[in-house]
Formats: sequence, structure tokens, C-alpha cells
Amino acid sequence: MASLIGIHPGIAAQRLKEQEYKINAIAKKMDPNAPHITAVMGKELTSIPWANGDRRVISLPYLFLLKASDLRKEYQSLKIDDPMLQEDIYLDSFGVRAQKFFNLPKKSLDFIDKQIIRTFLQYISNPALAEKAKDFVLGHEVAHIMNQHDHNSADPIAMLVESAFSGSTALANATIFAIAIATGLWTTMPLVVLSCATAATTTTVGYRIIQESNHSHACEKDADLTSARHVKNAKEGGVYLFETFMKCQKNAREHSFLYRLLFNSDGDTRVLWLTHPYESERASYLKQFKN
Ligand SMILES: [Zn+2]
Repeated sequence: MASLIGIHPGIAAQRLKEQEYKINAIAKKMDPNAPHITAVMGKELTSIPWANGDRRVISLPYLFLLKASDLRKEYQSLKIDDPMLQEDIYLDSFGVRAQKFFNLPKKSLDFIDKQIIRTFLQYISNPALAEKAKDFVLGHEVAHIMNQHDHNSADPIAMLVESAFSGSTALANATIFAIAIATGLWTTMPLVVLSCATAATTTTVGYRIIQESNHSHACEKDADLTSARHVKNAKEGGVYLFETFMKCQKNAREHSFLYRLLFNSDGDTRVLWLTHPYESERASYLKQFKN
């Protein structure tokens, strides 16, 4: 029975195939000899998109597969300032139903999951732009593979970000991480290192973080602009995506101290700054981009 989402579970697999088809069409546009890329689902409901160049795999968030028309009417036009989106019970019921729908193990939502669901509902309220935003994301991930950006999961940065976003310690890690960044990385480096024991095994972790960070920023910008160059409507979709994030994150700051640590007053994500340029910067260079 359709509960939260009015589509049959079989549709999810079909949607994944559709995305894989789009991914490979984009790759062929970038390079006619592009190898085949496989699309897979993320590990959790709110996992973020991820490209693995060595295995030529792109991991997509579950929510990514949904179109506005898949959702029940009540979810189709919710805006971020709707009081319902501040109610834990409302977000939890969305989470439970969506996990059930996708056959995922039940996991209670942490404050990052909740923020992702709020952002998702705001972004899907404009169905046309939401589809363009997806095309931008696909182009961005394909660009990482085609341009051979060496995103390596062994990088201390990737580990830090991963640890901040996964598992039962997400809250503690994200908080330590946000404090570290908010107060200046160097003075709190011991805290950052503590927040990821694996990264602390190397004494050069601080230096590597800065080095990897610069490299990572360059790769992300390159992937954004490559997507805008090759994918129809990606520029508009990317601007919409980043501005939606900023709008929702500014809103979140009004509701909790933790969100004020995580997001700055422009609505940018402090936690991601080590690996990604701020959302405001990404929206701005995309707007200026001319094909
Ligand atoms: Zn990226």
C-alpha cells in the first residue's frame, strides 16, 4: 500500500536504471570512449552522492530517485518555513515510512538526517527545478570519474567527513568538527584529530589535510563547471540546489545552537568546507559561468 510515497517499490529499481542510463549518456558526451559507469544506491536513506573512479561506480541517495509526483499531496508543497518541518514526530514518521518503502533497516534520524529531509522537501516543492538539480548532480559525479579526480577513501579528509556523517557518533563528531572549524582549525587540531582516531595514526595529518583540502576544492569546482558545460540545464539546477541548501540552513540556524555551529550566517556548511567550496561560492561561480 502506498503510505508516504505513492509509488510501487519496484519503481525504485527502475528509477535507478533510468539514472544509470542518464549517467552513461552524460559520460559519452564528455568522452565518446567513456567506459560504462554503474549506479548504486547509498547505504542509508540520507546518504550523499559519491563517485568512485577506480570502480566506476556512482552512489546515489535514495531521496534522489523520488519525483515530486511520487509523494503524497501533503508532502508536495511543504516549504522550509512550515512549522511541521520543525516537529520531530513529523520528520520521524517521514523517515520511518521512507525507510520502509526502500526496504532499509530502521534507523532513528539524527539532526543531520532531519535537516536533509527538510531540505529535500523544500527542494522537491519546485518539481521542474528539482529535476534540473538532479541532472547537475549526475554531471558533477560523472565529471569526477571522467576527469580522474582521485577521491580516495583513505584520505584523512574523506575519513573525517565520513566519520562526521555516519554511525552513532555522528552528533559528537559533527559537533567537534563544527567547533573546530568555527574556532579556527589550528588551535583545535587535537580535537579534530581525536574525532577521527584512524586519521590520527599519521603524524602528518595536519599538513595532509591542508594539502588535500586545496586539491579537493579544485576538483569540486572543476566537477561543477564540467557539469554546467556538458549537461543541459545543469547550471540552473546547480544554482537552485545550492541556494536551496543555503535557504534551509539559514532557517535551521534559527532553531538550534547545533545548527548555528554547523552552518554559518550565510547558510553555508562549515563541516564540508575542508573538501568542498561553500555553497554560496558554488552558486556564484555557476551563475557567472558562460558556456
Ligand atoms: Zn564532488
